[in-house]
Amino acid sequence: HLQTRVNISSDDEIGHLAAAINDLAVELERYRSNRQEFFATISHELRTPITYLEGYANVLKNELYETEEEKKKYLSIISDETKRLVRLINDLFELAKAEEEQLTLEKELVDVRKIIDGVIVKVSLKAEEKGLNIEKNLTKHTQLVQGDQQRMEQIFINLLENAIQYTESGKIKVDLHEISSNQVKVTISDTGMGIPDEEIPFIFERFHRVEKSRSRDFGGTGLGLSIVKKLVEMQNGTIHVKSTLGKGTTFEVIFPTADKTSLS
Ligand code: ADP
Repeated sequence: HLQTRVNISSDDEIGHLAAAINDLAVELERYRSNRQEFFATISHELRTPITYLEGYANVLKNELYETEEEKKKYLSIISDETKRLVRLINDLFELAKAEEEQLTLEKELVDVRKIIDGVIVKVSLKAEEKGLNIEKNLTKHTQLVQGDQQRMEQIFINLLENAIQYTESGKIKVDLHEISSNQVKVTISDTGMGIPDEEIPFIFERFHRVEKSRSRDFGGTGLGLSIVKKLVEMQNGTIHVKSTLGKGTTFEVIFPTADKTSLS
């Protein structure tokens, strides 16, 4: 704990200054414990797959399996956990970059409609593999937003990949419409497993996974949505989720559109 509390003995300017210093100390303490928690979580998340790798590698090395089938199962756990580890490292790197770029992002005018169109093409193979259809309903007009092409793509790839990941049957719908003269809304909805009400407030938090075991089965890192939220906010947008357990989930992303009169 910080030992920097200042005694507030008066109500004048010195007193106010003392109070401000105390507030700062509280703020610093909070920052420090957040950081500690963040690093503790990272080490835990990195350690878990490594423990699996070590464990199953030992089983194989010492031939502690009875059938070829069992051996294959252990090998595939090793391969899955290795992939998860790589994803985790990539996601962490993305998150760090997003946090840094928040200050330095260079924005240009990008057409959200075109980006969504391209992203749907990119993920459609994954959807087809699961027998899922992606239905799109996009406005005919270009929708220009001050943003970063790649970052914008990343937002929608993440949301669509989640929709595919957490949906077993049914379809995925992507909607894009102007909701006012200066706002555009993108809606991505699925008919998947949904998110329990009590989990909804936390899903944008780093490392949060709904029913941890469930997402672990899917190889998730719990970082995707926190990156998405950061990227949306970097581009002055907002993101919301609605979900019904067992029925499906809808993510809504709203961006301010660029002032058309300023274009020439
Ligand atoms: P993950 O890498 O685990 O997918 P995310 O941050 O992308 O991490 O998502 C956080 C959690 O939110 C996921 O573990 C999953 O349980 C839940 N989730 C995200 N998108 C959906 C969706 N479309 N349908 C159901 N659950 C979802």
